[in-house]
Amino acid sequence: MDTRSFLSHLECGLCGERLEADRLWNLCPKCGKPLLARYDLDAARAAVTPAAIAGREPTMWRYRELLPVRDDAFKLSLGEGFTPILRAARLEREAGHGPLYVKDEGLNPTGSFKARGLSTAVSRAFELGVRSVSIPTAGNAGCAMSAYAALGGLEAHVFMPADVPKPFINECRVLGAKVTLIAGLITDCGKAAREGIEKHGQFDVSTLKEPYRIEGKKTMGYEVAEQMGWRLPDVIIYPTGGGTGLVGMWKAFGEMEKLGWIGPKRPRMVTVQSDGCAPMVKAFHEGKEFAEPWPNARTIADGMRVPAAVGDFLILRALRESRGTAVAVPDTEILEATYLLGKTTGIWPAPEGGATLAALLRLRKDGWVRDGESVVLFNTGNGAKYSHIWD
Ligand SMILES: *Cc1c(COP(=O)(O)O)cnc(C)c1O
Repeated sequence: MDTRSFLSHLECGLCGERLEADRLWNLCPKCGKPLLARYDLDAARAAVTPAAIAGREPTMWRYRELLPVRDDAFKLSLGEGFTPILRAARLEREAGHGPLYVKDEGLNPTGSFKARGLSTAVSRAFELGVRSVSIPTAGNAGCAMSAYAALGGLEAHVFMPADVPKPFINECRVLGAKVTLIAGLITDCGKAAREGIEKHGQFDVSTLKEPYRIEGKKTMGYEVAEQMGWRLPDVIIYPTGGGTGLVGMWKAFGEMEKLGWIGPKRPRMVTVQSDGCAPMVKAFHEGKEFAEPWPNARTIADGMRVPAAVGDFLILRALRESRGTAVAVPDTEILEATYLLGKTTGIWPAPEGGATLAALLRLRKDGWVRDGESVVLFNTGNGAKYSHIWD
């Protein structure tokens, strides 16, 4: 095998505790915060180049030296990643801004970018001996986990709020998961999942509560760089819930610089949330290191309905280090922008994708995004499962 993982150890994102990579971990045993995967980047730099990657399979596994799975026998892949970045020429004219690109994550298996994170997390858990996985979810993450569990023959336990739209529940069931509907929010689902985790040894793959979902999501950062000719855009706008994608991309940029694949230039990272659930936006503008839980979280963009994120300090750190910002937009503007995105690009976006356009329109008006700056919007999911908001 001429490719291998250069995973070296795990490191706590807050206290810096260093842990052995080849055993199962959830949160940091010392401080309870998320663990991050670290690689021997000097060795990786000598072993792989952008030119070598250019000829590889069109999935996120083209960056496999920088991914955690060691043995291909455990790599559970349905073709996730390497989604197109589309120049949105008609949208540029409508929005009065260019160059403007959309990374269409709706083309991933199960229709959202959750596929990336759950491909790496379920694969790595499988490699470390796990045969049963569990997740509390607002929808997309449950579908993605079910898919990779089905592929590998693992048991899947999905806990969803009872008001999750039917298509998400149906998909999990078709993919063979045991679905438990809970009267309450995603936080209540987390509590319900605990019994199976504590008593029956199911492995918890909640956002940032294990170290490898972020590794799959970071590949969006590698792809943006590769697809734009190893030059990063000026601004990236990202619909933020738990923040794995934003934190992951920021991590990827740091890795790529150490690998010698890009220079020190970074995009300004922008978080967008709905004004019905905007804990990160509030904490960012108040200059806080951690966010307070958002009461009565409500939005049509379910992926962003995360009232408390375990990785809040990592999101806020990435926004500040990048000299980025955070924007809250009302659901009415999100819906309008979702339609505008659809009718000018031919992509059927999830409302979370529409939210990034709503944020851009505001940032243009405020002058925060200036003429000629290149902007990448992330459409994080396919609109097809959101029938409840189109009706
Ligand atoms: C989960 C989700 C998000 C939020 O992603 P994070 O990386 O957890 O912030 C955004 N959009 C969609 C469609 C999602 O499913």
